[in-house]
Amino acid sequence: MTLTPEQVKKVKEQLLGQIEQNFPAENKESAREQISAMNPQELEDFLVQNNLLNFSEENETPESRCIMCMVVAGKVKAYKIDENEEAIATLEIKPISKGHSLVIPKKHITDAKDIPKSIFEFAEKISAKLEKILEPKQIMVYTTNVLGHELVNILPIYKTETPESERKNLPPEELEQVQKEIVEFKEKPKKEVKEEKKEEAVDYSKWWLPLRLP
Ligand SMILES: [Zn+2]
Repeated sequence: MTLTPEQVKKVKEQLLGQIEQNFPAENKESAREQISAMNPQELEDFLVQNNLLNFSEENETPESRCIMCMVVAGKVKAYKIDENEEAIATLEIKPISKGHSLVIPKKHITDAKDIPKSIFEFAEKISAKLEKILEPKQIMVYTTNVLGHELVNILPIYKTETPESERKNLPPEELEQVQKEIVEFKEKPKKEVKEEKKEEAVDYSKWWLPLRLP
């Protein structure tokens, strides 16, 4: 089996992302060059040698070599911000904007049509939370497919970002900081909010002007 040019491009992007995240600074440059220079056959050999792919395995399934299924299984480092029985939510490691997140269905769903409504509802819940914490201008929720696995993207928009905007390579510390900000966010207890409102309440009785009668 040979990787298609599209698969080669995606796999290289994934590997470069992992180098960015996990390699010591002094090794990054040479590792990047090595990956970039590989032809499809060399890339495939590299993946097999490193147990990242195993085409010879008889019981292989799409799941067994899907990077997103590996994230779900906890085999790949991810910055998890939430989880329910159907999906996990993580920060995109190459975000377009601060708080760019992915809702990854736990099942290997290959077609956006098959993403259950409940997963979109989960994404909306996270989107509402991000809106409170990060206060973007708006938030876009859209699906993408990474190597066969459908994802829901949650993209906070602060200026003019779009899903096609340039991605940033954030250092792990920065991703951890954003993750912390989201995970540790607590809604103000309702009581407190009520009290605040009471304090700020305006006495409108002072504002009434005498009625002018015709
Ligand atoms: Zn998958």
